[in-house]
Amino acid sequence: MEYAYSTFHRPVHVPHRLTFWGTRGSIPTPGPHTMRYGGNTACISITGPNGQLTVLDAGSGLRPLGHSLMPARGRTLSADILLSHTHWDHIQGLPFFKPLSAVGNRFCVYGAAQEGVPLQEILRRQMDPMVFPVPLEALAATLEVHDIGEGEISLTDFRVRAFRLRHPGTTLGYRLGPTTGGREIAYLTDNELGPGGTYPVSDDWRDRLVEFLAGTDTLIHDAMYPDRFIKVRAGWGHSTPRQAVELAAEAACARLILFHHEPEHDDATVDELLADAREHARRVAPKLIVEAAAEGTGFLL
Ligand SMILES: [Zn+2]
Ligand SMILES: [Zn+2]
Repeated sequence: MEYAYSTFHRPVHVPHRLTFWGTRGSIPTPGPHTMRYGGNTACISITGPNGQLTVLDAGSGLRPLGHSLMPARGRTLSADILLSHTHWDHIQGLPFFKPLSAVGNRFCVYGAAQEGVPLQEILRRQMDPMVFPVPLEALAATLEVHDIGEGEISLTDFRVRAFRLRHPGTTLGYRLGPTTGGREIAYLTDNELGPGGTYPVSDDWRDRLVEFLAGTDTLIHDAMYPDRFIKVRAGWGHSTPRQAVELAAEAACARLILFHHEPEHDDATVDELLADAREHARRVAPKLIVEAAAEGTGFLL
């Protein structure tokens, strides 16, 4: 099995390609120390087999994705946007997503309501005049917002299954399978695999998660904290690279991509965490390929 993990300078939207536009957790961290893994918060694009664009999370990485789509001016654009949850680092790119200001464009956003507040209302509040000059209703494009929970939805190019994660608020992990068949990927960010925290999930949550992942080729997983840190961060809703390796091993995934890098970590620290995760994988799952998500890179599905 071959994996082409390539960097590009000029983003290209090729069918069946996944691209990382934002890999960081919590807050954007631009600067010379985060040049390689990137400073934008969570955003991934996937161009499906029929050319339809699917976006995972709308962190600040959504802004450069929007810019890369603008040269397609003259023809309208549509995309499905799946939100893991509505913490800031997963929605803050939306007000700066240029294609939302073009008439004729159409976007469908899917994600969970939070504490009885519908997703559309949460997105609207992020653009309240008190904190942002342009309200959600003023955007020229058509925006459809759908509240979803665990279960299955069908998009143009993907069958999507959602699974509730262990994270404050209602947070969904997604498994995407191309409708035409082929490698499946899972996107599980903001997920606490360790024992910390109290979340409204069943006792057999871990077994159900492994079942949910069975047969996926690539797992993109939260790997925010190093082992030495996880005890003091118990209950914050995140995992370590080693915990992500163990989940990928248990679910027999072929590849793991570490995601949601801690904002305090510079490139050298992410390198160290990746090296340690690979070392751990050599012990528990020698065939598992382990990478760390880097902004501006991607792969063919
Ligand atoms: Zn986050
Ligand atoms: Zn979060």
